Amino acid sequence: MKRAVVQILSSGPRARRTRWVVLLLPYLLCAQTNTVRVEFDNGSRPTPIGVFARQGVLYASLTDIATALSITTFESQGARKLELKGTTYRLVATAGNSFVTIIGQTGKRSIFQLQNEVVNAAGTNFVPLVSFLPLFRIALGCPATYDAEKEVLRLSPTSAVKGYDFTTLKLEVKSNGMLIRIPTVRTLHEFESWLKQDGWLYVTIADAKADIEAINKIKPIGLVKKIVAIQSPTSVQLTFKISGKIASSEIIKDESSNDILISLRTPGSEEKLLLEKKQREVQTDLENQRKRWELDVIVLDAGHGGRDYGALGVTKVKEKDVTLGITLQLGKLLEKNLKGVKVVYTRKDDSFIELHRRGQIANEADGKLFISIHCNSLRKKPSPTSGFEVYLLRPGRTEDAIEIAERENAVIELEEGYEQRYQKLTEENFILVAMAQSAHVKASEYFADIAQQELEENTNIQNRGVKQAGFLVLVGASMPNVLVETAYLSNRDDERYLKSESGQHKIAEALFKAIKKYKEEYQKLLLEGRDVGENIR
Ligand SMILES: [Zn+2]
Repeated sequence: MKRAVVQILSSGPRARRTRWVVLLLPYLLCAQTNTVRVEFDNGSRPTPIGVFARQGVLYASLTDIATALSITTFESQGARKLELKGTTYRLVATAGNSFVTIIGQTGKRSIFQLQNEVVNAAGTNFVPLVSFLPLFRIALGCPATYDAEKEVLRLSPTSAVKGYDFTTLKLEVKSNGMLIRIPTVRTLHEFESWLKQDGWLYVTIADAKADIEAINKIKPIGLVKKIVAIQSPTSVQLTFKISGKIASSEIIKDESSNDILISLRTPGSEEKLLLEKKQREVQTDLENQRKRWELDVIVLDAGHGGRDYGALGVTKVKEKDVTLGITLQLGKLLEKNLKGVKVVYTRKDDSFIELHRRGQIANEADGKLFISIHCNSLRKKPSPTSGFEVYLLRPGRTEDAIEIAERENAVIELEEGYEQRYQKLTEENFILVAMAQSAHVKASEYFADIAQQELEENTNIQNRGVKQAGFLVLVGASMPNVLVETAYLSNRDDERYLKSESGQHKIAEALFKAIKKYKEEYQKLLLEGRDVGENIR
């Protein structure tokens, strides 16, 4: 007596675990206690199929499969040979043989090899289920999938009515040749094409079923003079008669649709194609460049906030309130009048925002312009010094500029652990900062210049010009950036102006006009395909 290691796949949700047992093989094969469930897509009554597992392979009763599909069966050779009579094909499985014979209506035979031999047990033939699966669709007219985990065989008889993978071809005449598109209902993985010297193009699509009657009726056009489609049990053969010279042909799967595409290129079209590709690349490049520079996000940074009051005016007006007032008004103007521009605020209320966080917010929003709004002040109050300044990030040149930057930067001392977070803007560090900002220098200068003009024209504040200093808040913003010291809180007239609604509105309006002008100039350069960062001005 032979002993064999047998794996029993138990069915049902309660005992899904696989048990390994040593049993007498003949006993098991007669026992036939295990089944897998059969489920139909169309809701037909589920029926079980007898199965057993041997050495990791699951075998299914071919008689049960035939019953589930209502297919007639014939036994011969003492039940060792079992024939299933499907609608289109007959299928013959013989015990001890891994080859299954498929016989078409015309009597044409083809062979399909299973991974394991057909086993005769309990008076009928069992087939290795997984490698038999393609035959459900090919020969039995009913696609099937097996869910090993749930032990369920799913049958789709609805699509079995026709079961075609494709029913037509689309011929497209191109300037450089032809495109033959095969629209498929599912992904077909195996296909090949072969262009013969005599002008015939052969295409084989494996494991597929096509409505060849319909395809053979398709009218050839262009280079294609004749179409012949043949269905074999395991593949579809398409043959095209091609007229004229073909430089190259290619068969690929269209990744977006799963369609199979066959391209036929006429001679001379190769160079043209290359040129077109190059042109497309340049176009995409330009488009990306444009996107990168498009002024679509503007970041407004209201200086100070929360426990950081900023400077205090002659009558104790707080810088943080003035900067927020101007910022909100400017934002409103931009949102209302500049279509397609998103306004991002580092703060919209009286909250404390750490200095480094402001640049982060701007970068995260992919800002294209960063405007930090502040008010100037001298220690001596009141003092006659008045006016606005537009600052660029560079080492301070004058005592005043250095002092202003130091005052504005001092806010970091209100942050915990600031010593680790910020590097002192030494000469050496400035070289690094300048490198990081180099792409934005020209644009920053350009905007500063426009802002200065507009502030002069639209406000009553004296113009003190474009200056430079080491403002930490600008260091973190990876985009064109400026800091505007709108006026002096330490000056009585300036403070009155800054405090008033109308004064704040005038400043906001001036900055709005500057941004609008800057954007227009920007757009012009973008349309010319120029790099704004480098060529502005
Ligand atoms: Zn400030």
